[in-house]
Amino acid sequence: MGASLGPGIVIVGLGPAAVNALEGIRSQDVDVPVTILSQEPYYAYYRPRLSHLLGEEVSSESLAIKKPQWYEERNAQVLLGQTAKAIDVDRKTVSLDNGSELSASSVILACGSSPFVPPLSGLDRENVFSLRTVDDARAISSACETAKTVCVVGAGPLGLEAAWALAKRDLEVHLLEHGSRLLSKMLDQNASRMLAEIVESAGIVLHLSAFSEALFPGGIRLAGGEEIPGEVILFSTGVRPNLDVPRSAGLKINRGVEVDKLMRTSTPWIYAAGDVAEFEGSVGGIMPVAVAQGKVAGVNAAGGQEEYVAVPPSYTLMVMGTRLFSVGDVQDGPDVTSIVDVDYDSRVYRKLVLLGDKVVGGILFGDIAGSDKIRRAVEEGVQLPGAAKESVPDYASLLDMIVRD
Ligand SMILES: Cc1cc2nc3c(=O)[nH]c(=O)nc-3n(C[C@H](O)[C@H](O)[C@H](O)COP(=O)(O)OP(=O)(O)OC[C@H]3O[C@@H](n4cnc5c(N)ncnc54)[C@H](O)[C@@H]3O)c2cc1C
Repeated sequence: MGASLGPGIVIVGLGPAAVNALEGIRSQDVDVPVTILSQEPYYAYYRPRLSHLLGEEVSSESLAIKKPQWYEERNAQVLLGQTAKAIDVDRKTVSLDNGSELSASSVILACGSSPFVPPLSGLDRENVFSLRTVDDARAISSACETAKTVCVVGAGPLGLEAAWALAKRDLEVHLLEHGSRLLSKMLDQNASRMLAEIVESAGIVLHLSAFSEALFPGGIRLAGGEEIPGEVILFSTGVRPNLDVPRSAGLKINRGVEVDKLMRTSTPWIYAAGDVAEFEGSVGGIMPVAVAQGKVAGVNAAGGQEEYVAVPPSYTLMVMGTRLFSVGDVQDGPDVTSIVDVDYDSRVYRKLVLLGDKVVGGILFGDIAGSDKIRRAVEEGVQLPGAAKESVPDYASLLDMIVRD
């Protein structure tokens, strides 16, 4: 590399937001030069599968979202292992950490997020990890080859999936959770309780209301003094948007880079999408948001006109062999009607939540059939006239109404 390539569209980062941005750009303009900078030496891959694969061979190729040929067919120049350092807004250039520079008519920030690790004492001991990349997964697996105990800090979806993958390797796994129940935003009390039973029956030692205080060579100490074994410590305590490049451009930033419906930042020729972006006060952090925002950013950066419609938070995961789906608002409350179908023996729990006639949320636990329809109903704010508790006696009838709709 050396000379400037522009002007064209420069995409910073290569994850799902960037892939969909490229798709969006080419839906409008087949000629505009596109350059994609990927800090990692890999083409975009599915991160969600990393947690399932701990302890197994992981290759970026087997997880790839698109093959290298796909980028070639779309005439995109992909620079693997190249990191954007800063954007010069006056000169409309993106500088790289290798000293070279790209001119840009537009920039799409698709640089994602990085794991957040709480500032505890003792973090400098060996075998302390978080999981974001293929390289992280390989390092964790390798450390676990000689370890007998692992402590996973944080029982969000990623922490749960990682704990399960490690428990299958005959490791003694401890799972620490700040909250008093599991997945408190995605599940209601009943589903959280069922999930805790499943976790414990998989041999994982679950510690709820556990506040980590300090790491020591063989484990982690909780506030209150209890010592939890962990030759390997895996932090799964959330992510923070990667803001160095956006900051260099002086963009408006709150928790993420603030964007409007067109995915434009406070500098209109710079767009942002995915984990790095903040739309109407919320930072995505999940694949469906990265996919939808990336597409909109690409279309608009290439001269089109498309508005992003916020995707309600939804999650599908496989924990301890049990499938789980959650979308929208799932908690009980005075203003909502909850319709529940439960079979404790086979650990199947299904719930739909209505606000008036509108489907606003759902949980599927153990059997996620119908999840696409429920997600769509919540996304589209489907109204089901007469769908009050009195007229809809059970879950099956309500689901039937959604499906027919
Ligand atoms: C283990 C794991 C499990 C997950 N499970 C789920 C799940 O089940 N469901 C779900 O919806 N979501 C899940 N997620 C979240 C999902 O993967 C992210 O929301 C999604 O990857 C965000 O896409 P993105 O394109 O915004 O950013 P990313 O996928 O983070 O990609 C951004 C890329 O940009 C690169 N980059 C950063 N800075 C620069 C720079 N300056 N120059 C060049 N490149 C740069 C990064 O290295 C990275 O490769 C999971 C994530 C992880 C890590």
